[in-house]
Amino acid sequence: MATAIKTTCPYCGTGCGLLVAPERDGDGWRVSGDADHPANFGRLCSKGAALAETLGLEGRLLHPEVDGRRVGWNAAIAAAADRIGAVIDRDGPDSFAFYLSGQLLTEDYYVANKLAKGWLGTANVDTNSRLCMASTVAGHRRAFGSDSVPGCYEDLETADLVVLVGSNLAWCHPVLFQRLRAAREAHGTRVVVIDPRRTDCCDMADLHIAVAPGGDVALFNGLLAYLHRVGKFDAGFLAAHVAGLAETLAAAQADASPPSPEVARFYRWFAETDRVVTVFSQGVNQSSAGTDKVNAIVNVHLATGRIGRSGCGPFSVTGQPNAMGGREVGGLANQLAAHMGFDAAAVDRVRRFWNAPRMATREGLKAVELFRAVDEGRVKALWIMATNPAVSLPDSHLVRRALAKCPVVIVSDCVAHTDTLGFAHIRLPALAWGEKDGTVTNSERTISRQRPFLPAPGEARPDWWAVARVAEALGFAAGFAWRGPAEIFREHARLSAFENDGSRDFDIGAAAAADYQTLAPFQWGGRRMFTQGRFFTPDGRARMVAVRSRAPVEAPSPDYPLRLNTGRYRDQWHTMTRTGGSARLSGHRPEPLIELHAGDAAAAGLADGALARLESRLGSMVARVAVTDCQQPGEVFAPMHWNDRFAADSVVGRLIPGHTDPVSGQPELKHVPVRLVPFAADWSALLIADRFPTPDGASWWVRHPMAGAVPRSFGMPAKPAGAVPRSFGLPAKPAGGCLTEMAGDGADGRRRLLAAADRAFGTERVEALDSGRGIARYAWMRDGRLVAALFVAPERLNLARGWLAGQLGRVQDTPLDRLGILAGRSPVGSDDDGRVVCACFSVGLATLQRAIRDRALVSVAEIGAVLKAGTGCGSCVAELHRLLPAPVHV
Ligand code: SF4
Repeated sequence: MATAIKTTCPYCGTGCGLLVAPERDGDGWRVSGDADHPANFGRLCSKGAALAETLGLEGRLLHPEVDGRRVGWNAAIAAAADRIGAVIDRDGPDSFAFYLSGQLLTEDYYVANKLAKGWLGTANVDTNSRLCMASTVAGHRRAFGSDSVPGCYEDLETADLVVLVGSNLAWCHPVLFQRLRAAREAHGTRVVVIDPRRTDCCDMADLHIAVAPGGDVALFNGLLAYLHRVGKFDAGFLAAHVAGLAETLAAAQADASPPSPEVARFYRWFAETDRVVTVFSQGVNQSSAGTDKVNAIVNVHLATGRIGRSGCGPFSVTGQPNAMGGREVGGLANQLAAHMGFDAAAVDRVRRFWNAPRMATREGLKAVELFRAVDEGRVKALWIMATNPAVSLPDSHLVRRALAKCPVVIVSDCVAHTDTLGFAHIRLPALAWGEKDGTVTNSERTISRQRPFLPAPGEARPDWWAVARVAEALGFAAGFAWRGPAEIFREHARLSAFENDGSRDFDIGAAAAADYQTLAPFQWGGRRMFTQGRFFTPDGRARMVAVRSRAPVEAPSPDYPLRLNTGRYRDQWHTMTRTGGSARLSGHRPEPLIELHAGDAAAAGLADGALARLESRLGSMVARVAVTDCQQPGEVFAPMHWNDRFAADSVVGRLIPGHTDPVSGQPELKHVPVRLVPFAADWSALLIADRFPTPDGASWWVRHPMAGAVPRSFGMPAKPAGAVPRSFGLPAKPAGGCLTEMAGDGADGRRRLLAAADRAFGTERVEALDSGRGIARYAWMRDGRLVAALFVAPERLNLARGWLAGQLGRVQDTPLDRLGILAGRSPVGSDDDGRVVCACFSVGLATLQRAIRDRALVSVAEIGAVLKAGTGCGSCVAELHRLLPAPVHV
């Protein structure tokens, strides 16, 4: 058997190690967890386990294009260099900017940063990591004098109390959640969840505090005041290693208010437990007070000396696979390289190391202000790499307008169709996961290799290579003459050690001598940082930072009475360019939902499952209402993922104003005043087909691939079932089909929809019309096999969607067969799985509900024994618990 290749997952900041090996039949790949990797020790989550399904070349950008025409690389490089050079010659260095991504490898990031900050003379190099953890970087630097994550994953296992603040670890970092669950089962770790929503993390929480949005600073200030009152400060640690106590405590005491009984219990637990880890992520960072929130958390750990020890510390978990690597090479506009800032000594040091001709000497534009500068014409040439700002940035109307009028837009991406690529004058085909060769750094500072196991397809090339060739064409050949990523990594490592001598936290100089090809995962800064109580400030002391609570920038009003919070779904990643193509991953949440409390839904005149328009003063989106008691009254949740490729009008970024944290520049993505109104539609339709046609006649639609007969094995087959025509760059036909849900208004829309389906699927149509109830059912056959089924009705019909998808391509030659298709369910009884709950074993909600009822299952273990659900990655365990009957107490 061929040796498995060791590589790293390209999704979240947990940074799990993977083994990738060819399937035994030589067709496709098998992805499994690497038992030797210190992040996951063999574990995987649903997204990592489905990676083999995302390797197809459908929808890939495979050739360079300039002004809409395919060209060779030489022409594309020349065009990019000419246009960037002309803009800078005319308007100066700051008229150019890079907008990068936490998806890039460290080597790619390093080269882009070097070109801009050392050769072009601008620090306009920012990244989508600004949306992810910039507030943590700023908070760390204020407290520690460096952007250092103090702890490691093992601390979650050795702690006696783990506090999750604004962190849905169960969905966003599932393998860390698995490790925490195992530790809790082994020695009873207490878990406190602080989150406005009742997330799946609450499944194992001893306490959930539904903190009001923006209430985190007051909560942790109150904790600091309490710890002081009950004598839990570590006086020795404070005296020897910390500055700023008096003013910080005074601010906290002024901010504190009498705690509720739940908050008082949390304070007591925190005070009486020596080993406490506070995990935080986007709920803390994505706020106009994000940096203050980070420091409020860090303050309580410094005051109690709970840092730099096993099972202790504030712990930021990053969203993206290489947000940390980007930070290390200066991928943020306010950092230079190797964790250095823009002080004169650092600028001079980097200039000498690079022998740079034109160093940037001051900070550049951060993401939100960068796109404002593009909109105002101050930035005239923009190179975007591996990200989709037209969807992911707030105020996406402004972002799209800015891109539309920017004279030079270069986009490097591995896919051919994103909302952002539509604005590009020059498109450069990049490598995707499985083809890339380089390094990434995860949330605990572990640097791991991403190794290629697939050849570069078409003319796709590494991002570092494209930047280096443009640098060469601009006349900078000497500084960019690397022959491969190993040489770039060595230069990066040497820079980290250059004139360092322990004065800077980031030093991986020793790795410069390592064999890059066989480089094993290693953690920089040691297992834990600050073990000796020495920090990277001028006097070596950490800083407690006085912070006061501040409300989010915009408050709800009579016109916009609800508050919108945004975030991730368990099985989707960012703007779905990769996960959106997986039928299995799309099955868990097939469409975006507007989650809200029953009272708010009733007040808006909306029932569960109804379509609604969510409106802010800036824009709107359409999605289905999901009534849930996981939401507090007055609060709404919507996902960040959907874009114009997968839905007609469901980009949440259109609603979000570009308010930012004054210190970090991170946008406030979780506090938007909104209102809900019913979506006007008098018909609803469902189309299941062997391809995605362009929906015609519908005023709203959403679509996703759908598995029909998915094998129930942990390793999914990587081979698509066959090539079909497709639109929107969506992936190969899955084992089942392609599902489009639609809604519209008026008979004309229904007619146009039917005419479009006839054009797409041919003339061999059967139908059943119920004009009394306004329900129409159609099926298209080719050679007796089903190619599409369409159902149109005044209300959304309850149909066996999974069963229907499984019928595509199958012979339907008996009257009973065709009756079943038109009825939308199996004529011999219901065998529909329902929407996916367990993605590892493709077990659906309906199957689970039947098994629980018919076999009287009472525990997750029993479900696992019968259906295997919950026995793979464990991400669905919380949901399985909720499906079980409530225990009867006697
Ligand atoms: Fe990938 Fe899941 Fe691990 Fe994150 S937790 S790195 S998504 S396998």
